[in-house]
Amino acid sequence: MITLKNINKTYDMGQASLHVLKGIDLHIDKGEYISIMGASGSGKSTLLNILGILDNYDTGDYYLNDILIKNLSEKQAAVYRNEMIGFVFQSFNLINFKNALENVALPLYYKNVSRKKRNIIAMEYLDQMGIKDWAYHLPNEMSGGQKQRVAIARAIISKPKVLLADEPTGALDSVTTVEMMKVLTELNSNGLTTIIVTHEKSVADETRSIIHLKDGLIESFEKK
Ligand code: ADP
Ligand code: MG
Repeated sequence: MITLKNINKTYDMGQASLHVLKGIDLHIDKGEYISIMGASGSGKSTLLNILGILDNYDTGDYYLNDILIKNLSEKQAAVYRNEMIGFVFQSFNLINFKNALENVALPLYYKNVSRKKRNIIAMEYLDQMGIKDWAYHLPNEMSGGQKQRVAIARAIISKPKVLLADEPTGALDSVTTVEMMKVLTELNSNGLTTIIVTHEKSVADETRSIIHLKDGLIESFEKK
């Protein structure tokens, strides 16, 4: 489902440049449950953003579902992203002036689903996440765990092929972290390919494989 061949990425910063990914080779099958670990600055977010078609790379090839994700226009990237990727962030990235239901329904708006229909579907996803009662609350009225459930519901409402999460428990306490991992593990056990960046061993231990990144290279790919 995901194949990376010799992926390189350099950030250009005027006179200096930073070679962040130095030849990443990786194959991930459908249904896998993977965490990516590594020191701060090792390139975890850069790699995840490339997988999520949020950023591009310089050289190499990235195949997602047999489609070469390379040199895409903004528009084509957005189409593939909407079709195939669900993304969850440490800081939730919810729209503060929209309630939980509206946040979750938003991806369906971009797919031209009617307001009535998208609200019905969004409510089902809030229910699945156990936060139906919070549908009409704004993000700032919710706890971190509740906000992350809203963000996950929004990420999966368009039935993505892969769920990518960048430190999804980074802003949560340890009890809420355990709950959030239950949610992600459940989604994966229903067949959703899931990749989680984390620096918490307890989070990585819940996944089936662990990729260790070091200085822009995969140091090990530990399969349990
Ligand atoms: P991690 O998520 O593992 O902490 P990142 O992928 O965010 O690492 O960053 C890897 C390196 O690239 C870091 O040194 C970071 O400062 C740098 N970096 C990340 N994004 C940019 C950017 N947009 N411009 C310049 N440097 C960046
Ligand atoms: Mg990061």
